[in-house]
Amino acid sequence: MRVLNLNGPVYGVCLAGDKDERPTFDQMGMATACLWAARSADSKYKVGCAILSDYSHSLVSIGYNGRYPGCPTEERASLEVGASQFVHAEQNALLRARWEHGESHSLFTTHEPCPECALLILAARHVRRIVLANPYAMPGRPRGSDLLREAGLEVIEWQS
Ligand SMILES: [Zn+2]
Repeated sequence: MRVLNLNGPVYGVCLAGDKDERPTFDQMGMATACLWAARSADSKYKVGCAILSDYSHSLVSIGYNGRYPGCPTEERASLEVGASQFVHAEQNALLRARWEHGESHSLFTTHEPCPECALLILAARHVRRIVLANPYAMPGRPRGSDLLREAGLEVIEWQS
């Protein structure tokens, strides 16, 4: 079982494997994030996020990047960095989460959280672990993964 094509404009998810092979909960989390990334209308980056309870492994939320519900357009406002007027995948997932068991959740995301999303993840106080694909740095800005690590969260870069 593996998650395919994390760098493409549309993510491929393959859950097929040997008949006795079961995906891990991390694989299920990243596959779920990839699945929801496909729902994004963004022409530049399709980002998906999934949050799972560490206790029950239940899905507590999903999100993808896009305009707010009811917005007259689904298109990006601009291709410039930081000017899309999109709600980020992590933000959407945090807004919709039905938390279980306090702070013990894992957040899976198809792209490294931006600094603002990293701060929101910390402020939510329900996530202890981040699993991210597509790490990136923006010139002159702190890395989201560094902010999360400095605050004591476990940050894992996805190895497909
Ligand atoms: Zn963000």
